[in-house]
Amino acid sequence: MNLDGIVEKDKQYVWHPFTHLKFANNAIPIVKGEGAYFYDDQNQKLLDAISSWWVNLHGHCHPYITQKVTEQLHTLEHAIFSAFTHQPAVTLAERLLKHLPNNQTKIFYSDNGSTSVEVALKMVLQYWHNQDIPKRKFIAFENAYHGDTFGGMSVGARNVFNNAFENLLFDVIHIPLPNQDNIEEIEQVMLNWFENHKDIAGFIFEPLVQGAAGMLMYEPHYLDRLIKLCHENQVICIADEVMTGFGRTGQFFASDYLNQQPDIFCLSKGLTGGYMPLGVTSCAQFIYDACVSEDKTKTFFHGHSYTANPTACAASLASLDLMEKPETWSQIEMIAKSHHTFLSQIKNHSKLQDVRQTGTILALEINTEEHTHYLNNASENIANYFLKQGVIVRPLGNVLYFITPYCVTKTELDTLYAITLKFLEQLN
Ligand SMILES: *Cc1c(COP(=O)(O)O)cnc(C)c1O
Repeated sequence: MNLDGIVEKDKQYVWHPFTHLKFANNAIPIVKGEGAYFYDDQNQKLLDAISSWWVNLHGHCHPYITQKVTEQLHTLEHAIFSAFTHQPAVTLAERLLKHLPNNQTKIFYSDNGSTSVEVALKMVLQYWHNQDIPKRKFIAFENAYHGDTFGGMSVGARNVFNNAFENLLFDVIHIPLPNQDNIEEIEQVMLNWFENHKDIAGFIFEPLVQGAAGMLMYEPHYLDRLIKLCHENQVICIADEVMTGFGRTGQFFASDYLNQQPDIFCLSKGLTGGYMPLGVTSCAQFIYDACVSEDKTKTFFHGHSYTANPTACAASLASLDLMEKPETWSQIEMIAKSHHTFLSQIKNHSKLQDVRQTGTILALEINTEEHTHYLNNASENIANYFLKQGVIVRPLGNVLYFITPYCVTKTELDTLYAITLKFLEQLN
């Protein structure tokens, strides 16, 4: 492979996402992926402790997924999805619905997490529009992240990610994450809105773990209470499981910890095992039915050129095959148990403000002079330290977290913990 000048050419021609163009270090060329590892241009093995932006489930270049995708590429690479269909999309819809709560009956395909959220928001608005009911407002959590498109930004937190666009975002009611102390107050605030304004169309949330916010975690029973309240007041509930889906929280979906059933689900990231971009928005039958009408203006006019791309669907089906294997679930359990043991060891560490865990997700909030914040400078120091030890992490400010592929071994996790302890020790 000719990598001559790749770093310089990268700097000259490429604009990277979420990247400080002024201060960015040279991008590190990744030339190969295998299992839980990346290989850089110096042939150095790097443990991928963040599943390559939270997408990879079963390891890089898994032979089984690669084989299935290759077969699909020899058969059908793309087909217009309006008025045509194909086996991978239909089988995937059927199989995903088996894993989702039984109120979910339809699968709408798009390309990524942000579009899965846009589709969800638009489904909700279309549902009320089609019935001439003037409900157009959403409730979301403070610090939420639902993607970088305008709808996603609007229901997300107002912060550095979107302040250039702030006055173009639509109005959303942001409520705090619920806990023992504030749950009743939150319920009261919501109830007041429902009764006095009657304009709340939907409630969107990341169930159990707010990823980009810094892996903030909350209890399912509080979310259950809020969903119940919404349902009692004809408010549609959207579970954004883009990050939490496919085993991350220890269950297939984070919503499996709930008693209430959300009306809409957004899926992406792990959906294809991390191989291809694909988004899914599933919904309950009543939402679909509201768009079935003699009146053509009630059509849900949304779609993307790559909707239900067969290759992406094939990757997803192969990843589901692996997800359904008992071995994968023993691995998920092993990761959750190891994290838990490590958490018990370090929870009182003087360099840590907080340690939290949900299933395979472990987050350590490190004490810094600056407050906990995405732009906290600790991020780069942490990432550089781990990189020198052969591990890729991407802290959210001073929040260091691990979301490994499920093929990681106990020994590799123990190495990760040992590096973490050494890192904490050398902090002053
Ligand atoms: C990553 C993420 C998104 C956006 O997904 P993209 O594929 O990056 O557009 C939306 N919601 C949540 C909860 C996410 O973690």
